[in-house]
Amino acid sequence: MTIHQNLIAGEWVGSDAIKNINPSNTNDVVGEYARASADDAKAAIAAAKAAFPGWSRSGILERHAILKKTADEILARKDELGTLLAREEGKTLPEAIGETIRAAQIFEFFAGETLRLAGEVIPSVRPNIGVEITREAVGVVGIITPWNFPIAIPAWKIAPALAYGNTVVFKPAELVPGCAWAIVDILHRAGLPKGVLNLVMGKGSVVGQAMLESPDVAAITFTGSTGTGKRVAAASIEHNRKFQLEMGGKNPFVVLDDADLTVAVEAAANSGFFSTGQRCTASSRLIVTEGIHDRFVAALTEKLKTLVVDDALKAGTHIGPVVDAGQLKQDTDYIEIGKGEGAKLAFGGDLVKRDNPGFYLQPTLFTEATNAMRISREEIFGPVVSVIRVKDYDEALATANDTPFGLSSGIATTSLKHATHFKRNAEAGMVMVNLPTAGVDFHVPFGGRKGSSYGPREQGKYANEFYTTVKTAYTLA
Ligand code: ADP
Repeated sequence: MTIHQNLIAGEWVGSDAIKNINPSNTNDVVGEYARASADDAKAAIAAAKAAFPGWSRSGILERHAILKKTADEILARKDELGTLLAREEGKTLPEAIGETIRAAQIFEFFAGETLRLAGEVIPSVRPNIGVEITREAVGVVGIITPWNFPIAIPAWKIAPALAYGNTVVFKPAELVPGCAWAIVDILHRAGLPKGVLNLVMGKGSVVGQAMLESPDVAAITFTGSTGTGKRVAAASIEHNRKFQLEMGGKNPFVVLDDADLTVAVEAAANSGFFSTGQRCTASSRLIVTEGIHDRFVAALTEKLKTLVVDDALKAGTHIGPVVDAGQLKQDTDYIEIGKGEGAKLAFGGDLVKRDNPGFYLQPTLFTEATNAMRISREEIFGPVVSVIRVKDYDEALATANDTPFGLSSGIATTSLKHATHFKRNAEAGMVMVNLPTAGVDFHVPFGGRKGSSYGPREQGKYANEFYTTVKTAYTLA
């Protein structure tokens, strides 16, 4: 099997490789991917540093052309790349192709942004002086990504980093090197000068840690667990570097008595179980008022019976496997914790066998949960959802906000009054009315509050707050 190598200073390097395993079929090896060392990471950082002066002053048309070409190739290869994504991560093929299309759209959006970055010219408070405010590239950006969106998250970090003139050292999650390698290969062939984008696949504790410890990394953008996020923060403060964190969620979805039951059930099923519940915007707390509670639980349970758990590549699969054995153990541990805490297991809870050996878990629904239980407070990151019964809207809102996290928050209601009040008072970066908590556009800000996020928003034009630094220049006329 050929080894997919790391890209350092424009050269493909590395011979120490690990196997990328398909979670739908653990007999299927997706490919072999090189494992970088701490020294490789240092070489990548040095290459990015050396490439920065040239790239940050490069013409915006050159950057536009490379990003546009990348978007076009990703789109042209959406079925092939979507299949690779579904094979290495386990989300269903339609979800994986959708994510691939989104990556192409993100590159296209930021191709356009290269031509739109504007500053300001304003008068000084002193006579005969002009003031210009401009945005400049930050320097070497370290990009550390998780496994749950193997192509979209790298795209929404790499595209703005390059668009605004930064150079990049990119470390994808160990479980999903395939999509990471593919987009780096596409960008490299699209004409990036050597050293502008470096790929270092490998362990967080080795490659990621080397990035955290380097004084030459000017900014780090990270998506992953709260624990690692805190390490990124501490190391970044040490080096006086910019950092941006997207971490966990425990997103609430409120269902009020006046909700359209079909809308509520569809949104709850999507939020909780699609992509195997492995989205940071997934909803694992359904907060339901008394008058609709029993009807909602009955209808959601009926819906869960229709969801097919199977191989991600099979037509008709609604829920693919859990990503790996470690995550599966975390999910089943939480199912035991929920039972032990006194929540009622209303549906699922068991592993399922399919034709291929894989990490298959039934969609799992707890009822009679309280918001104080661990299953309601801690991120599980699997297809495990609990229903919390509340008296009225006020209790629903208070319960929704009673969490250390604040990424996304949803409500199902036909009341304009409650929808409006919820949009204003939900303590979250994103609020959804009659829509799943997950599923966002690519051209508007993404991010959260409280324990979910730190730093400027990602995506859309707001991304420039992180990937550029502001300069104020004064000139005597
Ligand atoms: P997840 O639960 O999504 O795997 P992690 O925070 O463990 O969350 O992983 C997210 C990313 O952070 C991965 O690319 C991982 O390799 C990386 N990572 C893990 N540990 C460290 C570390 N000590 N320093 C830097 N990056 C790390």
